[in-house]
Amino acid sequence: MTGIRQLPLRPELRGQVPYGAPQLDVRVRLNTNENPYPPPAAVVADIAAAVGAAATSLNRYPDRECAELRTALAGYLGVEAGVRLGAEQLWPANGSNEIMQQLLQAFGGPGRTALSFAPTYSMYPEYARNTHTEWVTGRRAADFGLDLEQVLPLIERVQPSVVLLASPNNPTGTALPPAQLGAVLAAAPGVVIVDEAYAEFRRDGVPSAVGLLDEHPHLVVTRTMSKAFALAGGRLGYLAASAEVVDAVRIVRLPYHLSAVSQATALAALAHSDELLAGVDRLRTERDATVRWLRELGLRAADSDANFVLFGTFADRHAVWQGLLDRGVLIRETGPDGWLRVSIGTAEEMRSFRAALRKIVAHDLIGHDPSEHDPTQHGLTQHGPTQHDLTQHGHTEGNRA
Ligand code: PMP
Repeated sequence: MTGIRQLPLRPELRGQVPYGAPQLDVRVRLNTNENPYPPPAAVVADIAAAVGAAATSLNRYPDRECAELRTALAGYLGVEAGVRLGAEQLWPANGSNEIMQQLLQAFGGPGRTALSFAPTYSMYPEYARNTHTEWVTGRRAADFGLDLEQVLPLIERVQPSVVLLASPNNPTGTALPPAQLGAVLAAAPGVVIVDEAYAEFRRDGVPSAVGLLDEHPHLVVTRTMSKAFALAGGRLGYLAASAEVVDAVRIVRLPYHLSAVSQATALAALAHSDELLAGVDRLRTERDATVRWLRELGLRAADSDANFVLFGTFADRHAVWQGLLDRGVLIRETGPDGWLRVSIGTAEEMRSFRAALRKIVAHDLIGHDPSEHDPTQHGLTQHGPTQHDLTQHGHTEGNRA
């Protein structure tokens, strides 16, 4: 058998491994920011019926332009973000992962640069690598927000074709204030992608970037049905932008990229938005309670507008992660050194998390991390599209969910 070394693999992919969160069979899984509430039975029945109807014509290719689905998504954002968009401004794909890769295929590429700010979602460098786009990261401030005094000069210097900002950010939960986004939009020479995978969980009064689309033709907002809609298994992400951006993405998309089954599933789910989104309020309440509880326990917890909370800091975060796992609770070892991320689950799952963490803290399995997050350390690293850089924050593990 031919060994991998003899295969003509792209040199920058040699030694790399496909990455994903461990899919362990654990009682309480709070590690991939999934929605813990499965779709209600009536919604399951409607999705099954819609898929059944689609199955009768699976001998045909699906609607390549996803017309009905794009109209339904525009209708949804009209209600959720209070912004009227035309169907030509929406574009769906197999998860927002695929959306972002399509965006980098269209707007990145050899000789071009994508810029983001760490700690952030660790798939971003992989989209860059996959599309031969130079990848540059600046750093977020001590409170995990953007520090414009660092950000703006970096944009000026790097002249990125793409700026990629998650809001709320993963793994920190931080939403981007509109004034900061406005400053980035004014400075950026290329497209600005705001990844709003967790937007529906934002706290009251926190606006969505969808409201800025009208004035900014180079703004792209990406969303997903994986989180708030509890449809991670359906693989449906989408973008909202100017019709010109959508047309650019349509050039690089594979023909018939979104199956008839996926389109039917998403349409049926959107018709039940209210029921599917019913869990969002419960999760927001549970999240806020989790932040309060962690702080009462004497730990640090980052403010969160998402369905997860970054907390710490621990001298040995791996020991804490392992201690939780030993007690049947799987969370995520990700983010800056010393921090851990817990996804918000059901009230019962969060009780298990609290009970397990309380025991670990009581047994003094943890220590306070003396190095902490250093607010004075900002910086820039630059390298080719094959490497990752979240290392300045000691980001040792991918964070793909
Ligand atoms: N963006 C962020 C910030 C995420 O955390 C995730 C998934 N965890 C995604 C995008 C991709 O989600 P999906 O492909 O399921 O839409």
